[in-house]
Amino acid sequence: MPGYELFGAEERKEVNDVLETGILMRYGFDAVRKDVWKAKELEEEICKTFDVAHAQLLSSGTAALTTAMAALGIGAGDEVIMPTFTFVASFEAVLSVGAIPVMVDIDETLTLNPAAVENAITSKTKAVMPVHMCGSMAQMDELKAICDKHSLILLEDACQAIGASYKGKSVGTIGNAGTFSFDFVKIITCAEGGAVITNSQEVYKKCDEYSDHGHDHMGKDRGADLHPYLGYNYRISELHAAVGLAQLRKLGSFLKTQKHNHDIIYDCLKNIEGVSFRQIPDPAGNTGSFISFFLPTEDIARTCATELAANGVAGNFYWYDNNWHYIRKWQHLQSGSWMHRLHEDQKLQVMHYTNQAFPASDAIMSRCISSSMSLLWTETQARERGQKMAAIIKQVIANHAVTA
Ligand SMILES: *Cc1c(COP(=O)(O)O)cnc(C)c1O
Repeated sequence: MPGYELFGAEERKEVNDVLETGILMRYGFDAVRKDVWKAKELEEEICKTFDVAHAQLLSSGTAALTTAMAALGIGAGDEVIMPTFTFVASFEAVLSVGAIPVMVDIDETLTLNPAAVENAITSKTKAVMPVHMCGSMAQMDELKAICDKHSLILLEDACQAIGASYKGKSVGTIGNAGTFSFDFVKIITCAEGGAVITNSQEVYKKCDEYSDHGHDHMGKDRGADLHPYLGYNYRISELHAAVGLAQLRKLGSFLKTQKHNHDIIYDCLKNIEGVSFRQIPDPAGNTGSFISFFLPTEDIARTCATELAANGVAGNFYWYDNNWHYIRKWQHLQSGSWMHRLHEDQKLQVMHYTNQAFPASDAIMSRCISSSMSLLWTETQARERGQKMAAIIKQVIANHAVTA
């Protein structure tokens, strides 16, 4: 998963180009920047790489989600249907524009269950936000059909799936807009950064303005720009964009390595009785950043996670007990703790939706472990890791069979 593992000469070169000019800001200073425009260049390369008409860089993936929602006209009182399994940022972003997150069940794809989405639609539903978790993709045909049928916006949170595709299209380019995160642990990184990608000129233009205090960016003098809309500062810096540019150029090789390691680990685990794997809607488009698998029971899954860690096999995530990725442990949500008061309607509805039980999601997440792939393993190391994992998992399953 993490591009930070292969930080090197390419990133240093791009950052140095910026340091040579001393112009760390992406806008303005045309006369002195010696034609160095890393953010613009990265946006162009994102469009080419993912075959999308427009890209707007932002300061983070969270800022990208907020900006995309604003640009898509999602706001006060609108309901946004999203999955119970995500990173808490997707939920934060919905609240940030005054909208209401409506959490619904996932299925064995670890992404939105289309039937659960359809059941959650009300007269207030404005958008559906699939989250392409752990490097793989949501069931986009089904979700798109639901959105088309009910005239809903489809916003893809592709923050964890840069480079994944679904039936030949890059994730993030299938809905009305998509977002990437380039934070430090994502598939590629800028240190901190994000992007909105879209084929809509109008949505792109609004993202461009919203992320820079509403500047219309029509002229060369920032001070003379008009501000047709309210906006905020979610700009990326040239230094961050420079790192991202080098990383994006390596994405192809990162994906190749991840998929190779993924296949080695899969080979080691695939024949273990009692282990099954996450469903992947389009296996050819998987990034291989994680391999996610299910154990027969919650007890076995939790014990496996503990035993893997105790035996030095790092990078295995038991999300069910994780404080950030699965709704069960979002204590701020359950206790209704906000620093600033939410609008009363928003607060009531958020509390209503979020104190709800999710037995179908629990039944899946409680048995799931996701194992992350490193870019640094040799073939031998990957195989040894897979064999070690297999031995530990088999032992845990056997022990439970004896005690059961
Ligand atoms: C990382 C992440 C984000 C937010 O990205 P940041 O750049 O860290 O703000 C949003 N959604 C998902 C699913 C993520 O994994």
